[in-house]
Amino acid sequence: MTTQALRINGERLWAALMELAQIGATPKGGVCRLALTELDRQGRDLVLGWAREAGMTVTVDQIGNAFMRRPGRNNDLPPVMTGSHIDTQPTGGKFDGNYGVLAGLEVVRTLNDRGIETEAPIEVAFWTNEEGSRFVPVMMGSGVFAKAFTLEHAYAAKDTEGLTVKAELEKIGYIGSEVPGTHPIGSYFETHIEQGPVLEDHDITIGVVTGVLGIKWYDCTVTGMEAHAGPTPMALRKDALQVAAQLMQEVVAVAHRHPPDGKGHGRGTVGMVQVHPNSRNVIPGRVKFSIDLRNSSDDLVEAMDADIRASAERLATASGLAIQIDLVSHYPAQPFHADCIKAVAKAATDLGYSQMPVVSGAGHDAVYMARLAPTGMIFIPCKDGISHNEIEDAKPAHLEAGCNVLLHAMLAQAKVVPA
Ligand SMILES: [Zn+2]
Repeated sequence: MTTQALRINGERLWAALMELAQIGATPKGGVCRLALTELDRQGRDLVLGWAREAGMTVTVDQIGNAFMRRPGRNNDLPPVMTGSHIDTQPTGGKFDGNYGVLAGLEVVRTLNDRGIETEAPIEVAFWTNEEGSRFVPVMMGSGVFAKAFTLEHAYAAKDTEGLTVKAELEKIGYIGSEVPGTHPIGSYFETHIEQGPVLEDHDITIGVVTGVLGIKWYDCTVTGMEAHAGPTPMALRKDALQVAAQLMQEVVAVAHRHPPDGKGHGRGTVGMVQVHPNSRNVIPGRVKFSIDLRNSSDDLVEAMDADIRASAERLATASGLAIQIDLVSHYPAQPFHADCIKAVAKAATDLGYSQMPVVSGAGHDAVYMARLAPTGMIFIPCKDGISHNEIEDAKPAHLEAGCNVLLHAMLAQAKVVPA
């Protein structure tokens, strides 16, 4: 059998997903397996047990990231790595993260079935606390690994009951000895459900992820003057909400001016509004609202930023009201590596799956890996684009297809040793 004809075992992948989903299963068919809980420990133990059965060695680092290794012929080469996370949201699904880890395991099981040796080693990782639900920051394990923040910062993070990451890692027995970030990576792939509606909308099986959107978060405050809604004529008002509403329209309009056209992927959202004093017969004197701007490159995010600020200035001049825009967070755009994008697209083409380039609007561990090594991602559709919800669902055929793409993308990097 040629390597080209090699396929993963979709039923075995599905069975592994369903078995892992039993740990922390919710009555509505989802999963609640929060980071560093007893259930997380059980999930970790199950996955690492499977890895050992598949002949892999296991290393755990000081933040609890686990690396499962299948040696290659030349073990001086850095491994071709895949991975994701197995922690979930409180009302999480069976596939978010878990799919990326178990797809990696299925790749190894498939290579074992056929006795295929690779030149470079292959590794499957799961990263600690990707979800950020119990402990902030999100993508904690991969973030420490990529030195986005320190191990001490992560250790000190507390849940709502005051329990720290360090104490909880110790309790479940997952503080390893390896210093985070010292583990070599040759290249990195991550398979993930899309968590959005684009692939399903286009009836496409494989999303070739070209990168992750850059994000800027702002707090915007419009200051007017409270006054009685009855006696104050329209011409003499300083209505902060009326001005804020116009600027909120601009946030959406600026995103529409950057449509998904192969270049831009503008997204603009106002998700939080506070009106002061929030009384039905008082003209609002102050409105504070959030602005979330996203686009596929930092230049495009900057262009949207300039656009919104110009609109704010124009509205402030026209109304005579003060408008203040404060940047509160900034995550740069993370384009993926051309070689990895090509490897994913080629694997999908060779396998005969429909594909399209997509961007990720959500963060993933792969964002941090992309700072360290050539990185790519594979998306598959999920039902109605829904995740972070117990009804999250994905089709077995899509899960199988994504895993086959992962197999061939990884083999192209790790190189098969001729039998
Ligand atoms: Zn995820």
